[in-house]
Amino acid sequence: MKKFIYLTIAAALLLSGCGSNAQSVQVVSVNDDDGEITEEDLATEAETTYENGVKVSKQYVFAMDTEMYLAIYGTECEEAIEAAVEEINRIDDLLSVGDEESEIFVLNSEGSCTLSDETYELIERALEIGDLTAGALDITVYPLMEAWGFTTQDYRVPSESEIKELLEKMGADKISYDEDTKVMTLSEGTMIDLGAIAKGYTSSRLMEIFEEYDVNSAMVSLGGNIHVYGSKTDGSDWNVAIADPEDSSKYLGAVKVSDKCVITSGGYERYFEEDGVVYHHILDPSTGYPADSGVISVTIVSDDGTLADALSTSLFVMGLSKATEFWENHSDEFDFIIETDDGEIYITPGLDGIFSSDSDYNIVE
Ligand code: ADP
Ligand code: MG
Repeated sequence: MKKFIYLTIAAALLLSGCGSNAQSVQVVSVNDDDGEITEEDLATEAETTYENGVKVSKQYVFAMDTEMYLAIYGTECEEAIEAAVEEINRIDDLLSVGDEESEIFVLNSEGSCTLSDETYELIERALEIGDLTAGALDITVYPLMEAWGFTTQDYRVPSESEIKELLEKMGADKISYDEDTKVMTLSEGTMIDLGAIAKGYTSSRLMEIFEEYDVNSAMVSLGGNIHVYGSKTDGSDWNVAIADPEDSSKYLGAVKVSDKCVITSGGYERYFEEDGVVYHHILDPSTGYPADSGVISVTIVSDDGTLADALSTSLFVMGLSKATEFWENHSDEFDFIIETDDGEIYITPGLDGIFSSDSDYNIVE
């Protein structure tokens, strides 16, 4: 028997803020047989309609192991959505750790690979941000992710000696590369995973694609990473809500933006529990254990999807005080919203006036 389940656009939702405006995305229903959302459930065709006289195409996609949603407004929305879905699948094929055809799979399994310019540059960028964040972002985390069972959902707590051994295979110095030939080589036992930045890179690519078409407004949610193009069709800003890490039916707050991404990392997104302890999927490369920095949610608001995705993960590892210090040196590149484990919310001054919340919040300086 078919049953109806509800799929929330995970982690961040768009609130309309105004009842008459149809540009709100909150909860969508997906018809499903067994309660599991599968690729087929989300492999829907784009649906094109008119809202307030503006042509709009919307589509759900399952890619990069997550649910995605796109809504594109403008006369060429149909062409743009087709190109966008193609781009998502192309990048997924390029970067997937599990797809035997992907460059990352070949690099990890053979230990060496001649990379495309695109993959090479993305890895270079990740290493650069890894360096800036003093190793909080570390793409060589993959063997450790495997050991914790996050790659297979066969969760387990590795022994201390196992973690110690795996930590020795991690770090940027285990990756060598030749700028001219684009040949990248990994030390024995080292493997990389671009999971912390791939969706942010993808959403930035989608914004570039929208530029090529007659599109005046768009929003994409790539597994809860929101990126908006332009403002809403009525000229007002998008109001992007940020999930409450402790209660998925509530919001921590919302931020009004145009032409920006709003990207959140939280331990609540993927985790398991053993002996009453919760272990989540953002690992601290300095300990090998799930990051335990006192924060429960980090949202980055920026023009740059790759940077924002990388930083949402890294600042989660750093914790509030190091994150604030990092922001002080890069305040022209991003803003943040951080919730700490005592329930306090901290935002950077750039969000003052555009961030709203039912809870009190602090503005960092
Ligand atoms: P999500 O992809 O769930 O939205 P993130 O952007 O924070 O969340 O990325 C988490 C993913 O990044 C993990 O699933 C793992 O593949 C990888 N990862 C975990 N810890 C780190 C880290 N310290 N540095 C780089 N990548 C990490
Ligand atoms: Mg990230």
